[in-house]
Amino acid sequence: MTTATTAASLDSLNPATGEVVGSVPLTPVGEIPAIVARARDAAKAWSAMSAQERADIIRPAGARLVERAEELGELLSREQGKPIKEGIGEVRGCGSRLSDEVDEIAEAVRPQVLKGDGVRSTVYHDPYGVCAAITPWNFPILMPHWMVLPALVAGNTVVLKPSEETPLIAQAYADVLNEFLPAGVLQIVHGREQGPALVKADVDLIAFTGSKVTGQAIMREAADGLKRVILELGSKDPLLVLEGADVDKAAEFAARNAFRNCGQVCVSTERIYVDRSLHERFVARLAEQAESFTAGPYDDENAAIGPMIHAKQKAHVAWQVEEAITKGAKVVFGNEPRDGAFISPTVLDGVTHDMDIMKTETFGPVACVMAVDSVDEAVELANDSEYGLGAAVFGEESTAQSVARRMTAGMVGVNQGIGGAPGMPWVGARQSGYSFHAGPMGHRQFCQVRVVSEGT
Ligand code: NAD
Repeated sequence: MTTATTAASLDSLNPATGEVVGSVPLTPVGEIPAIVARARDAAKAWSAMSAQERADIIRPAGARLVERAEELGELLSREQGKPIKEGIGEVRGCGSRLSDEVDEIAEAVRPQVLKGDGVRSTVYHDPYGVCAAITPWNFPILMPHWMVLPALVAGNTVVLKPSEETPLIAQAYADVLNEFLPAGVLQIVHGREQGPALVKADVDLIAFTGSKVTGQAIMREAADGLKRVILELGSKDPLLVLEGADVDKAAEFAARNAFRNCGQVCVSTERIYVDRSLHERFVARLAEQAESFTAGPYDDENAAIGPMIHAKQKAHVAWQVEEAITKGAKVVFGNEPRDGAFISPTVLDGVTHDMDIMKTETFGPVACVMAVDSVDEAVELANDSEYGLGAAVFGEESTAQSVARRMTAGMVGVNQGIGGAPGMPWVGARQSGYSFHAGPMGHRQFCQVRVVSEGT
Protein backbone atom coordinates (compact mmCIF):
# COMPACT_ATOMS: atom_id res chain seq x y z
CA MET A 1 0.00 0.00 0.00
CA THR A 2 1.24 3.51 -0.67
CA THR A 3 -0.88 4.79 2.15
CA ALA A 4 -0.78 4.27 5.84
CA THR A 5 -3.42 5.14 8.37
CA THR A 6 -3.11 6.49 11.87
CA ALA A 7 -6.04 6.84 14.21
CA ALA A 8 -7.28 10.03 12.68
CA SER A 9 -5.44 10.68 9.47
CA LEU A 10 -4.64 9.07 6.17
CA ASP A 11 -1.10 9.54 4.90
CA SER A 12 -0.51 9.60 1.19
CA LEU A 13 2.86 8.23 0.11
CA ASN A 14 4.96 8.77 -3.00
CA PRO A 15 4.87 5.28 -4.54
CA ALA A 16 8.41 5.65 -5.91
CA THR A 17 10.08 6.52 -2.61
CA GLY A 18 7.66 5.81 0.21
CA GLU A 19 7.98 9.43 1.45
CA VAL A 20 4.87 10.96 2.99
CA VAL A 21 3.50 13.50 0.53
CA GLY A 22 0.81 14.74 2.90
CA SER A 23 -2.20 13.62 4.85
CA VAL A 24 -5.92 14.20 5.16
CA PRO A 25 -8.24 13.60 8.11
CA LEU A 26 -9.85 10.18 7.99
CA THR A 27 -13.61 10.57 8.01
CA PRO A 28 -15.08 8.77 11.02
CA VAL A 29 -17.37 6.10 9.57
CA GLY A 30 -19.99 7.00 12.14
CA GLU A 31 -20.22 10.50 10.68
CA ILE A 32 -21.16 9.35 7.19
CA PRO A 33 -24.95 9.29 7.75
CA ALA A 34 -24.81 12.91 8.96
CA ILE A 35 -22.70 13.91 5.94
CA VAL A 36 -25.26 12.33 3.63
CA ALA A 37 -28.09 14.07 5.51
CA ARG A 38 -26.28 17.38 4.97
CA ALA A 39 -26.03 16.60 1.25
CA ARG A 40 -29.75 15.84 1.14
CA ASP A 41 -30.51 19.13 2.81
CA ALA A 42 -28.31 21.02 0.34
CA ALA A 43 -30.06 19.25 -2.54
CA LYS A 44 -33.28 21.19 -1.89
CA ALA A 45 -31.94 24.53 -3.10
CA TRP A 46 -29.44 23.05 -5.57
CA SER A 47 -32.02 20.96 -7.40
CA ALA A 48 -34.42 23.90 -7.58
CA MET A 49 -32.02 25.81 -9.85
CA SER A 50 -31.93 25.24 -13.59
CA ALA A 51 -29.11 23.09 -14.98
CA GLN A 52 -27.74 26.17 -16.75
CA GLU A 53 -27.63 28.09 -13.45
CA ARG A 54 -25.73 25.22 -11.86
CA ALA A 55 -23.35 25.07 -14.82
CA ASP A 56 -22.68 28.79 -14.50
CA ILE A 57 -21.89 28.45 -10.78
CA ILE A 58 -19.35 25.68 -11.43
CA ARG A 59 -17.80 27.30 -14.54
CA PRO A 60 -15.11 29.48 -12.86
CA ALA A 61 -13.58 26.32 -11.33
CA GLY A 62 -12.24 25.50 -14.80
CA ALA A 63 -10.06 28.59 -14.98
CA ARG A 64 -8.92 28.02 -11.39
CA LEU A 65 -7.77 24.48 -12.21
CA VAL A 66 -5.89 25.76 -15.26
CA GLU A 67 -4.29 28.54 -13.18
CA ARG A 68 -3.10 25.97 -10.61
CA ALA A 69 -2.30 23.20 -13.10
CA GLU A 70 1.45 23.10 -12.42
CA GLU A 71 1.12 23.04 -8.64
CA LEU A 72 -1.74 20.53 -8.59
CA GLY A 73 -0.16 18.46 -11.36
CA GLU A 74 2.97 18.06 -9.28
CA LEU A 75 0.92 17.04 -6.26
CA LEU A 76 -0.93 14.50 -8.41
CA SER A 77 2.30 13.04 -9.75
CA ARG A 78 4.06 12.89 -6.39
CA GLU A 79 1.12 11.01 -4.95
CA GLN A 80 0.29 8.77 -7.90
CA GLY A 81 3.71 8.38 -9.52
CA LYS A 82 3.11 9.30 -13.18
CA PRO A 83 5.56 11.67 -14.93
CA ILE A 84 4.98 15.26 -13.95
CA LYS A 85 4.04 16.43 -17.42
CA GLU A 86 1.21 13.88 -17.42
CA GLY A 87 0.08 15.01 -13.97
CA ILE A 88 0.00 18.63 -15.12
CA GLY A 89 -1.72 17.60 -18.35
CA GLU A 90 -4.42 15.75 -16.42
CA VAL A 91 -5.22 18.77 -14.25
CA ARG A 92 -5.03 21.22 -17.14
CA GLY A 93 -7.22 18.99 -19.31
CA CYS A 94 -9.95 18.87 -16.65
CA GLY A 95 -9.78 22.63 -16.17
CA SER A 96 -9.69 23.66 -19.80
CA ARG A 97 -12.61 21.46 -20.85
CA LEU A 98 -14.78 22.22 -17.82
CA SER A 99 -16.69 25.16 -19.25
CA ASP A 100 -17.73 23.27 -22.40
CA GLU A 101 -18.51 20.16 -20.36
CA VAL A 102 -20.91 21.86 -17.96
CA ASP A 103 -22.74 23.41 -20.92
CA GLU A 104 -22.93 20.05 -22.68
CA ILE A 105 -24.37 18.45 -19.54
CA ALA A 106 -26.88 21.28 -19.04
CA GLU A 107 -28.01 20.87 -22.64
CA ALA A 108 -28.34 17.08 -22.29
CA VAL A 109 -30.58 17.29 -19.23
CA ARG A 110 -32.96 19.94 -20.59
CA PRO A 111 -36.59 18.80 -20.79
CA GLN A 112 -37.62 17.39 -24.16
CA VAL A 113 -41.06 17.88 -25.66
CA LEU A 114 -42.62 15.09 -27.75
CA LYS A 115 -45.74 15.76 -29.79
CA GLY A 116 -48.40 13.30 -30.91
CA ASP A 117 -51.91 13.53 -32.29
CA GLY A 118 -53.71 15.70 -29.71
CA VAL A 119 -51.14 14.97 -27.02
CA ARG A 120 -47.88 16.44 -25.82
CA SER A 121 -45.39 14.82 -23.46
CA THR A 122 -42.57 16.52 -21.66
CA VAL A 123 -39.64 14.34 -20.69
CA TYR A 124 -37.83 15.73 -17.66
CA HIS A 125 -34.34 14.78 -16.51
CA ASP A 126 -34.56 15.31 -12.78
CA PRO A 127 -31.81 14.74 -10.23
CA TYR A 128 -31.92 11.59 -8.13
CA GLY A 129 -30.95 13.38 -4.92
CA VAL A 130 -27.65 12.44 -3.29
CA CYS A 131 -24.94 10.85 -5.41
CA ALA A 132 -22.04 8.90 -3.92
CA ALA A 133 -19.09 9.20 -6.30
CA ILE A 134 -16.46 6.53 -5.58
CA THR A 135 -13.27 6.73 -7.61
CA PRO A 136 -9.91 4.98 -8.24
CA TRP A 137 -6.29 6.22 -8.15
CA ASN A 138 -5.03 5.78 -11.73
CA PHE A 139 -6.37 9.11 -13.05
CA PRO A 140 -6.95 10.65 -9.65
CA ILE A 141 -8.42 13.98 -10.78
CA LEU A 142 -9.96 12.94 -14.09
CA MET A 143 -12.01 10.11 -12.57
CA PRO A 144 -13.63 12.28 -9.85
CA HIS A 145 -14.15 14.98 -12.52
CA TRP A 146 -15.97 12.53 -14.82
CA MET A 147 -18.40 11.54 -12.06
CA VAL A 148 -18.79 14.74 -10.04
CA LEU A 149 -19.53 17.17 -12.90
CA PRO A 150 -22.51 15.41 -14.49
CA ALA A 151 -23.91 14.55 -11.07
CA LEU A 152 -23.77 18.19 -9.98
CA VAL A 153 -25.00 19.85 -13.16
CA ALA A 154 -27.91 17.37 -13.26
CA GLY A 155 -28.88 18.75 -9.83
CA ASN A 156 -27.68 16.05 -7.47
CA THR A 157 -25.51 16.83 -4.49
CA VAL A 158 -22.39 14.72 -4.19
CA VAL A 159 -20.39 12.91 -1.54
CA LEU A 160 -17.06 12.05 -3.14
CA LYS A 161 -15.06 9.08 -1.81
CA PRO A 162 -11.74 9.11 -3.69
CA SER A 163 -9.19 6.33 -3.59
CA GLU A 164 -7.30 6.10 -0.33
CA GLU A 165 -4.13 5.93 -2.48
CA THR A 166 -4.60 9.45 -3.87
CA PRO A 167 -6.59 11.50 -1.34
CA LEU A 168 -4.59 14.74 -1.66
CA ILE A 169 -5.32 15.59 -5.27
CA ALA A 170 -8.98 14.63 -4.82
CA GLN A 171 -9.20 16.90 -1.79
CA ALA A 172 -7.57 19.71 -3.79
CA TYR A 173 -10.09 19.17 -6.61
CA ALA A 174 -13.04 19.31 -4.19
CA ASP A 175 -11.56 22.44 -2.57
CA VAL A 176 -11.35 24.19 -5.95
CA LEU A 177 -14.99 23.38 -6.77
CA ASN A 178 -16.04 24.40 -3.28
CA GLU A 179 -14.67 27.90 -3.81
CA PHE A 180 -17.75 28.36 -6.00
CA LEU A 181 -20.39 25.87 -4.81
CA PRO A 182 -22.94 26.45 -2.03
CA ALA A 183 -22.15 24.63 1.23
CA GLY A 184 -23.02 20.94 1.36
CA VAL A 185 -23.38 20.49 -2.41
CA LEU A 186 -20.02 18.70 -2.73
CA GLN A 187 -18.49 16.94 0.27
CA ILE A 188 -15.59 14.54 0.45
CA VAL A 189 -14.94 11.58 2.74
CA HIS A 190 -11.61 9.78 3.10
CA GLY A 191 -10.56 6.22 3.92
CA ARG A 192 -11.12 2.65 2.75
CA GLU A 193 -14.00 1.39 4.87
CA GLN A 194 -15.71 4.73 4.21
CA GLY A 195 -16.54 3.38 0.71
CA PRO A 196 -18.85 0.56 1.84
CA ALA A 197 -20.24 2.81 4.60
CA LEU A 198 -21.18 5.44 2.02
CA VAL A 199 -22.87 2.85 -0.20
CA LYS A 200 -24.89 1.67 2.81
CA ALA A 201 -25.90 5.22 3.76
CA ASP A 202 -29.02 6.99 2.50
CA VAL A 203 -27.70 7.82 -0.99
CA ASP A 204 -29.82 7.59 -4.15
CA LEU A 205 -27.19 7.01 -6.83
CA ILE A 206 -23.76 5.41 -6.68
CA ALA A 207 -21.42 6.46 -9.48
CA PHE A 208 -18.41 4.18 -9.25
CA THR A 209 -15.22 3.73 -11.23
CA GLY A 210 -12.91 0.95 -10.12
CA SER A 211 -12.38 -2.78 -10.17
CA LYS A 212 -14.93 -5.41 -11.13
CA VAL A 213 -14.82 -7.02 -7.69
CA THR A 214 -15.66 -3.75 -5.96
CA GLY A 215 -18.35 -3.05 -8.55
CA GLN A 216 -19.94 -6.40 -7.73
CA ALA A 217 -19.83 -5.66 -3.99
CA ILE A 218 -21.46 -2.26 -4.57
CA MET A 219 -24.18 -3.73 -6.74
CA ARG A 220 -24.99 -6.35 -4.10
CA GLU A 221 -25.18 -3.74 -1.38
CA ALA A 222 -27.23 -1.37 -3.56
CA ALA A 223 -29.82 -4.06 -4.24
CA ASP A 224 -31.54 -3.60 -0.89
CA GLY A 225 -32.73 -0.07 -1.58
CA LEU A 226 -32.65 -0.59 -5.36
CA LYS A 227 -30.24 2.33 -5.43
CA ARG A 228 -29.22 3.39 -8.91
CA VAL A 229 -25.69 2.44 -9.90
CA ILE A 230 -23.30 3.51 -12.62
CA LEU A 231 -20.36 1.11 -12.64
CA GLU A 232 -17.28 1.71 -14.81
CA LEU A 233 -15.06 -1.32 -14.25
CA GLY A 234 -11.88 -3.07 -15.34
CA SER A 235 -11.03 -4.72 -18.60
CA LYS A 236 -8.66 -6.87 -20.63
CA ASP A 237 -8.66 -4.91 -23.88
CA PRO A 238 -7.62 -6.68 -27.09
CA LEU A 239 -5.76 -5.33 -30.12
CA LEU A 240 -6.20 -7.13 -33.43
CA VAL A 241 -3.48 -6.72 -36.05
CA LEU A 242 -4.95 -8.12 -39.26
CA GLU A 243 -3.40 -8.89 -42.64
CA GLY A 244 -2.95 -5.57 -44.46
CA ALA A 245 -2.28 -3.63 -41.24
CA ASP A 246 0.41 -0.98 -41.06
CA VAL A 247 2.74 -2.92 -38.75
CA ASP A 248 4.76 0.10 -37.60
CA LYS A 249 1.66 2.04 -36.71
CA ALA A 250 0.11 -0.95 -34.93
CA ALA A 251 3.29 -1.64 -32.92
CA GLU A 252 3.63 2.00 -31.95
CA PHE A 253 0.02 2.05 -30.77
CA ALA A 254 0.46 -1.27 -28.94
CA ALA A 255 3.50 -0.06 -26.99
CA ARG A 256 1.95 3.26 -26.05
CA ASN A 257 -1.35 1.74 -25.05
CA ALA A 258 0.15 -1.17 -23.14
CA PHE A 259 2.77 0.82 -21.21
CA ARG A 260 1.46 4.36 -20.60
CA ASN A 261 0.74 5.13 -16.97
CA CYS A 262 2.72 1.94 -16.32
CA GLY A 263 -0.16 -0.08 -17.78
CA GLN A 264 -2.47 1.20 -15.05
CA VAL A 265 -5.22 2.26 -17.44
CA CYS A 266 -8.63 0.64 -17.73
CA VAL A 267 -8.35 0.64 -21.54
CA SER A 268 -4.74 -0.58 -21.67
CA THR A 269 -3.96 -2.99 -24.48
CA GLU A 270 -3.48 -6.23 -22.54
CA ARG A 271 -3.97 -8.84 -25.30
CA ILE A 272 -2.65 -8.67 -28.87
CA TYR A 273 -3.70 -11.03 -31.68
CA VAL A 274 -1.52 -10.73 -34.79
CA ASP A 275 -1.95 -12.35 -38.17
CA ARG A 276 0.82 -14.95 -38.50
CA SER A 277 2.16 -13.34 -41.68
CA LEU A 278 2.94 -10.14 -39.72
CA HIS A 279 3.75 -11.70 -36.39
CA GLU A 280 7.54 -11.76 -36.47
CA ARG A 281 7.84 -8.21 -37.78
CA PHE A 282 5.25 -6.93 -35.33
CA VAL A 283 6.93 -8.49 -32.30
CA ALA A 284 10.33 -7.08 -33.33
CA ARG A 285 8.85 -3.58 -33.77
CA LEU A 286 6.97 -3.79 -30.48
CA ALA A 287 10.16 -4.75 -28.63
CA GLU A 288 11.98 -1.78 -30.22
CA GLN A 289 9.18 0.54 -29.19
CA ALA A 290 9.18 -0.87 -25.66
CA GLU A 291 12.74 0.35 -25.14
CA SER A 292 11.63 3.96 -24.92
CA PHE A 293 9.33 3.29 -21.95
CA THR A 294 11.86 3.75 -19.15
CA ALA A 295 10.36 3.69 -15.68
CA GLY A 296 11.42 6.27 -13.09
CA PRO A 297 10.17 8.67 -10.42
CA TYR A 298 7.69 11.40 -11.38
CA ASP A 299 10.37 14.10 -11.51
CA ASP A 300 12.88 12.15 -13.62
CA GLU A 301 12.76 13.90 -16.97
CA ASN A 302 13.97 10.79 -18.78
CA ALA A 303 11.24 8.54 -17.39
CA ALA A 304 8.30 7.76 -19.67
CA ILE A 305 6.39 5.90 -16.98
CA GLY A 306 6.28 5.83 -13.19
CA PRO A 307 6.12 3.01 -10.64
CA MET A 308 3.27 0.69 -9.82
CA ILE A 309 0.90 2.22 -7.31
CA HIS A 310 1.84 -0.28 -4.57
CA ALA A 311 3.71 -3.49 -3.85
CA LYS A 312 0.57 -5.63 -4.04
CA GLN A 313 -0.09 -4.50 -7.60
CA LYS A 314 3.54 -5.13 -8.57
CA ALA A 315 3.36 -8.62 -7.05
CA HIS A 316 0.16 -9.38 -9.01
CA VAL A 317 1.79 -8.38 -12.31
CA ALA A 318 5.00 -10.33 -11.53
CA TRP A 319 2.96 -13.41 -10.60
CA GLN A 320 0.98 -13.30 -13.86
CA VAL A 321 4.18 -12.97 -15.92
CA GLU A 322 5.83 -15.86 -14.07
CA GLU A 323 2.78 -18.07 -14.46
CA ALA A 324 2.71 -17.33 -18.21
CA ILE A 325 6.41 -18.17 -18.54
CA THR A 326 5.91 -21.43 -16.66
CA LYS A 327 3.16 -22.31 -19.13
CA GLY A 328 5.36 -21.59 -22.16
CA ALA A 329 5.26 -17.83 -22.87
CA LYS A 330 8.49 -16.32 -24.16
CA VAL A 331 9.93 -13.05 -22.87
CA VAL A 332 10.76 -10.95 -25.91
CA PHE A 333 11.60 -7.82 -23.98
CA GLY A 334 11.91 -6.67 -20.35
CA ASN A 335 10.89 -8.61 -17.26
CA GLU A 336 14.07 -7.44 -15.59
CA PRO A 337 14.19 -7.09 -11.81
CA ARG A 338 13.60 -3.54 -10.57
CA ASP A 339 13.72 -2.19 -7.03
CA GLY A 340 10.80 -0.92 -5.03
CA ALA A 341 7.54 -0.36 -6.84
CA PHE A 342 9.23 -0.10 -10.26
CA ILE A 343 8.65 -2.76 -12.84
CA SER A 344 10.18 -3.16 -16.27
CA PRO A 345 7.85 -2.97 -19.28
CA THR A 346 7.59 -6.46 -20.72
CA VAL A 347 6.63 -8.04 -24.04
CA LEU A 348 5.51 -11.68 -23.91
CA ASP A 349 5.03 -13.80 -27.02
CA GLY A 350 3.46 -17.23 -27.40
CA VAL A 351 0.83 -16.67 -24.72
CA THR A 352 -2.35 -18.75 -24.65
CA HIS A 353 -5.78 -18.45 -23.10
CA ASP A 354 -4.81 -21.05 -20.48
CA MET A 355 -2.71 -18.38 -18.83
CA ASP A 356 -4.15 -16.06 -16.19
CA ILE A 357 -2.49 -13.10 -17.93
CA MET A 358 -4.91 -13.55 -20.87
CA LYS A 359 -7.96 -13.76 -18.60
CA THR A 360 -7.67 -11.58 -15.49
CA GLU A 361 -6.97 -7.84 -15.65
CA THR A 362 -3.21 -7.20 -15.29
CA PHE A 363 -3.13 -3.41 -14.80
CA GLY A 364 0.60 -3.34 -15.42
CA PRO A 365 3.02 -2.73 -18.32
CA VAL A 366 2.86 -6.10 -20.05
CA ALA A 367 2.03 -6.59 -23.75
CA CYS A 368 1.01 -10.18 -24.53
CA VAL A 369 1.16 -11.36 -28.14
CA MET A 370 -0.45 -14.36 -29.81
CA ALA A 371 -0.14 -15.30 -33.52
CA VAL A 372 -3.44 -16.16 -35.25
CA ASP A 373 -4.24 -17.80 -38.60
CA SER A 374 -7.45 -16.06 -39.59
CA VAL A 375 -9.70 -13.09 -38.91
CA ASP A 376 -12.30 -15.42 -37.40
CA GLU A 377 -9.77 -16.85 -34.97
CA ALA A 378 -8.68 -13.34 -33.96
CA VAL A 379 -12.29 -12.27 -33.37
CA GLU A 380 -13.12 -15.41 -31.41
CA LEU A 381 -10.09 -15.04 -29.14
CA ALA A 382 -10.59 -11.29 -28.67
CA ASN A 383 -14.19 -11.88 -27.60
CA ASP A 384 -13.22 -14.76 -25.31
CA SER A 385 -13.28 -12.56 -22.23
CA GLU A 386 -15.71 -11.66 -19.49
CA TYR A 387 -14.67 -8.02 -19.98
CA GLY A 388 -15.55 -5.60 -22.79
CA LEU A 389 -14.47 -2.02 -22.28
CA GLY A 390 -12.30 -1.13 -25.29
CA ALA A 391 -10.74 -2.82 -28.31
CA ALA A 392 -8.69 -1.77 -31.33
CA VAL A 393 -8.56 -3.27 -34.79
CA PHE A 394 -5.68 -2.49 -37.14
CA GLY A 395 -5.95 -3.63 -40.75
CA GLU A 396 -7.10 -2.70 -44.22
CA GLU A 397 -9.84 -0.07 -43.66
CA SER A 398 -13.00 -1.90 -44.74
CA THR A 399 -12.01 -5.24 -43.17
CA ALA A 400 -11.06 -3.50 -39.93
CA GLN A 401 -14.37 -1.63 -39.90
CA SER A 402 -16.42 -4.80 -40.29
CA VAL A 403 -14.33 -6.62 -37.67
CA ALA A 404 -14.87 -3.68 -35.29
CA ARG A 405 -18.62 -4.39 -35.39
CA ARG A 406 -17.95 -8.00 -34.38
CA MET A 407 -16.11 -6.96 -31.20
CA THR A 408 -18.09 -7.38 -28.00
CA ALA A 409 -16.41 -4.31 -26.44
CA GLY A 410 -18.27 -1.09 -25.73
CA MET A 411 -15.75 1.15 -27.54
CA VAL A 412 -13.69 0.10 -30.55
CA GLY A 413 -11.03 2.02 -32.48
CA VAL A 414 -10.29 1.31 -36.15
CA ASN A 415 -6.59 1.87 -36.91
CA GLN A 416 -6.46 3.98 -33.75
CA GLY A 417 -7.32 3.84 -30.06
CA ILE A 418 -10.82 4.21 -28.69
CA GLY A 419 -10.80 8.02 -28.43
CA GLY A 420 -13.54 9.49 -30.60
CA ALA A 421 -15.70 12.45 -31.37
CA PRO A 422 -16.89 14.90 -28.71
CA GLY A 423 -20.12 13.64 -27.19
CA MET A 424 -19.29 9.95 -27.46
CA PRO A 425 -20.29 7.93 -24.41
CA TRP A 426 -17.65 6.15 -22.32
CA VAL A 427 -19.18 2.73 -22.19
CA GLY A 428 -18.15 -0.73 -21.13
CA ALA A 429 -19.92 -3.88 -22.30
CA ARG A 430 -20.21 -7.21 -20.49
CA GLN A 431 -18.54 -7.16 -17.06
CA SER A 432 -16.65 -3.94 -17.75
CA GLY A 433 -19.59 -1.80 -16.89
CA TYR A 434 -23.17 -1.39 -15.87
CA SER A 435 -24.72 1.81 -17.15
CA PHE A 436 -22.18 4.36 -18.38
CA HIS A 437 -21.30 8.03 -18.52
CA ALA A 438 -20.20 10.87 -20.86
CA GLY A 439 -21.94 12.29 -23.89
CA PRO A 440 -25.60 13.32 -23.75
CA MET A 441 -26.75 9.73 -23.16
CA GLY A 442 -24.21 9.26 -20.38
CA HIS A 443 -25.08 12.54 -18.67
CA ARG A 444 -28.71 11.46 -18.46
CA GLN A 445 -27.69 8.39 -16.44
CA PHE A 446 -27.31 10.81 -13.53
CA CYS A 447 -31.02 11.69 -13.83
CA GLN A 448 -34.38 10.25 -12.95
CA VAL A 449 -36.44 10.48 -16.12
CA ARG A 450 -40.05 11.59 -15.59
CA VAL A 451 -42.75 12.21 -18.17
CA VAL A 452 -45.78 14.50 -17.99
CA SER A 453 -48.36 14.17 -20.77
CA GLU A 454 -51.33 16.39 -21.59
CA GLY A 455 -53.83 16.98 -24.36
CA THR A 456 -53.28 19.79 -26.85
P1 NAD B 1 -10.86 -0.50 -6.41
O1 NAD B 1 -12.10 -1.15 -6.88
O2 NAD B 1 -9.97 -1.25 -5.50
O3 NAD B 1 -11.19 0.87 -5.64
C1 NAD B 1 -11.93 1.91 -6.24
C2 NAD B 1 -12.61 2.72 -5.15
O4 NAD B 1 -13.60 1.91 -4.50
C3 NAD B 1 -11.68 3.22 -4.05
O5 NAD B 1 -12.05 4.53 -3.71
C4 NAD B 1 -11.94 2.25 -2.91
O6 NAD B 1 -11.68 2.78 -1.63
C5 NAD B 1 -13.43 2.00 -3.08
N1 NAD B 1 -13.93 0.74 -2.51
C6 NAD B 1 -13.25 -0.42 -2.29
N2 NAD B 1 -14.07 -1.38 -1.82
C7 NAD B 1 -15.30 -0.82 -1.73
C8 NAD B 1 -16.60 -1.30 -1.35
N3 NAD B 1 -16.80 -2.56 -0.94
N4 NAD B 1 -17.64 -0.45 -1.40
C9 NAD B 1 -17.47 0.83 -1.83
N5 NAD B 1 -16.29 1.35 -2.19
C10 NAD B 1 -15.21 0.53 -2.16
O7 NAD B 1 -10.10 -0.03 -7.73
P2 NAD B 1 -8.68 0.70 -7.85
O8 NAD B 1 -7.59 -0.27 -7.57
O9 NAD B 1 -8.74 1.98 -7.11
O10 NAD B 1 -8.68 1.09 -9.41
C11 NAD B 1 -8.26 0.21 -10.43
C12 NAD B 1 -9.47 -0.39 -11.14
O11 NAD B 1 -10.27 0.66 -11.68
C13 NAD B 1 -9.07 -1.24 -12.35
O12 NAD B 1 -9.84 -2.40 -12.36
C14 NAD B 1 -9.42 -0.35 -13.54
O13 NAD B 1 -9.66 -1.05 -14.73
C15 NAD B 1 -10.63 0.34 -13.03
N6 NAD B 1 -10.91 1.58 -13.79
C16 NAD B 1 -11.95 1.58 -14.67
C17 NAD B 1 -12.22 2.71 -15.45
C18 NAD B 1 -13.37 2.74 -16.43
O14 NAD B 1 -13.64 3.79 -17.00
N7 NAD B 1 -14.04 1.64 -16.68
C19 NAD B 1 -11.42 3.84 -15.29
C20 NAD B 1 -10.36 3.81 -14.38
C21 NAD B 1 -10.12 2.67 -13.62
